Amino acid sequence: VQSVRSIPDWLRGRAIHHPDHPALVAPEGTWTYRELYDAACEYAASLRILGVTEGDRVAVIAKTGVKYALMMHAIMQLNAVVVPLNWRLTGIELAKQVEDAEVAILLFDEGGATLARDVLQHVQPRYGGRAFESIERTTERVERSDIELTHMHAIIYTSGTTGVAKGAVITYQNHWWGAMASAMQLGLTPADRWLVPMPLFHVGGMAVLIRSLIYGTTVVIHNGFDVSAVNEALDSGDITMVSVVPTMLQRLIEHRRAGYPPALRCVLLGGSAAPKSLVARALALGIPVNQSYGMTETNTQATTLQSADALRKVGSSGKPLANMRVRIATPDGFTDEAGVEGEIVVQGPTVISGYWKRPDANAKSFRDGWFYTGDIGVFDEEGFLYVLDRRADLIVSGGENIYPAEVESVLVQYEGVREAAVVGQSDPTWGQVPVAFVVKASEVEMTELALANHCRQLLAGYKVPKAFYFVDELPRNASGKLLRRILKERLQ
Ligand code: ATP
Ligand code: MG
Repeated sequence: VQSVRSIPDWLRGRAIHHPDHPALVAPEGTWTYRELYDAACEYAASLRILGVTEGDRVAVIAKTGVKYALMMHAIMQLNAVVVPLNWRLTGIELAKQVEDAEVAILLFDEGGATLARDVLQHVQPRYGGRAFESIERTTERVERSDIELTHMHAIIYTSGTTGVAKGAVITYQNHWWGAMASAMQLGLTPADRWLVPMPLFHVGGMAVLIRSLIYGTTVVIHNGFDVSAVNEALDSGDITMVSVVPTMLQRLIEHRRAGYPPALRCVLLGGSAAPKSLVARALALGIPVNQSYGMTETNTQATTLQSADALRKVGSSGKPLANMRVRIATPDGFTDEAGVEGEIVVQGPTVISGYWKRPDANAKSFRDGWFYTGDIGVFDEEGFLYVLDRRADLIVSGGENIYPAEVESVLVQYEGVREAAVVGQSDPTWGQVPVAFVVKASEVEMTELALANHCRQLLAGYKVPKAFYFVDELPRNASGKLLRRILKERLQ
């Protein structure tokens, strides 16, 4: 038996065997698999005329999901490498990524044009920048050959929550195994309609686009997150799966008294820690929430909590996906023992082999075939993983560990608290003490004392924040992640 190196192109397969099945449903219209394939091949021919060839990195700034999808598929037909750019970043920040990835051309849509021009002031890709709307579909076609599993598909920059974003090199193999594991976990059929209200430039959005090709499902795209539009779509009974981050889920269910129609069978929750009370409230409404834990480097989920365990294990991120190994690293070596806290390390075919041009970060994070996530976690007796927090955000106070996420989770249980962030402040006696930033509902009166009393009832004394700052909003990045490092800077 020969080992499998290549497989037939996913998009072509769909176009040949299921040509009329809807591939993309967006506010701009619907694309069947045949239409998507034709568009991809014809745009690929136009990109080739512009000079793009196999292996070239092509950066994309797109605010319209369907345009992003079309560009991505065209790039894939050329077997070039997609570099999706986060349009919430500044031109200077993006120019660094364009430079780092040695991008051959920057494609942008109308919505991304101003930002793209800004980027192009700082860096000149080999073939410059090009507006998607100015690219004509030709009568020529470029159709890719088989998919070589080890080929690079994309460089996706991490969210930059802990520092400068790193380019994660995603291969076709990473996608293939991710799709397999996810299907085993969630069970997917071509009848599924998967709504992605989050930006497509992150790994979560991209994975839905790619996996749907493999499964033959339909992706429903919203351009940006609009609470009422998403609730309307979910209430219509037309959506079976949706990917959200915790802040989105919170806004979706804030004023709801009831769940969604039974057609919605999975709300895949990921990206950051979700307050327990949020998950509990969603479950109480009968919303099928699947908490997952993953990162750019694992090409989305590494562990997921099945619906069957959701109520019993609120707060857990579940168990490893098929083919994944997840362990806890301690100073005495790796362990799976219940109750032992340490850095989460992962291994498996969805894990990237390394960062793009970052030997320093690679040496630190990829060791002996394991990826060191930088997150701290613990297993329970039944092998369910609880992600406690990022190692970088851990507060050590008088020798005791405080996980900000735990304290935040308690704070948001207080009536009228919308969001909370906890960070360590240096302290001459304790080394560090926790302090809290709180966003409260506008109409509510609240005192520091009341909050401190609330925390005292639910938390050990050393975990109770020593100060509470009321703020209008918390610094978050485009995926809704709390930027605690900005708050730490503010404290200084
Ligand atoms: P950077 O690596 O550049 O600092 P980032 O880690 O935020 O940014 P992503 O890859 O988008 O970039 O996010 C992955 C991280 O999100 C995980 O390492 C973890 O810290 C956090 N995360 C994801 N899922 C969960 C979860 N279920 N519970 C707690 N944290 C989570
Ligand atoms: Mg990270």
